Amino acid sequence: MPDCLFCKIANKEIPVKLEYENDQVVAFNDINPQAPVHILIIPKAHIEKVSDFDLKHRDLITEFVLVANEIAKKKGILNSGYRMVFNCNKDAGQAVFHVHLHLLGGRQMSWPPG
Ligand code: AMP
Ligand code: ZN
Repeated sequence: MPDCLFCKIANKEIPVKLEYENDQVVAFNDINPQAPVHILIIPKAHIEKVSDFDLKHRDLITEFVLVANEIAKKKGILNSGYRMVFNCNKDAGQAVFHVHLHLLGGRQMSWPPG
């Protein structure tokens, strides 16, 4: 996707320090962190939003949670706690239309979310 910011990050056209990379996903710090740990995990393939997932994405969907757990361990928040968030479409406040999982932690969070 030529004009997609997160495609450019995933294919390294825009250099950012990666926190994690494997054949399916990359992870990097959110530019506007909402918690001491705020990392975005994105697929290398361009998929706009969570509602576009189907069964062919089964492995990728699994990967998001496993990678988030691994990063949480690396960041020392595995036991203190963390939140994983996918914003999908307008009402959820999705701003970047390349699927991304927010991994947030390092502080006490409230519920319900705003
Ligand atoms: P969402 O509202 O779920 O679409 O979240 C988009 C997220 O991407 C926001 O938390 C932004 O701060 C973050 N973001 C936007 N541009 C960049 C960038 N160049 N590098 C890192 N994070 C970004
Ligand atoms: Zn993209």
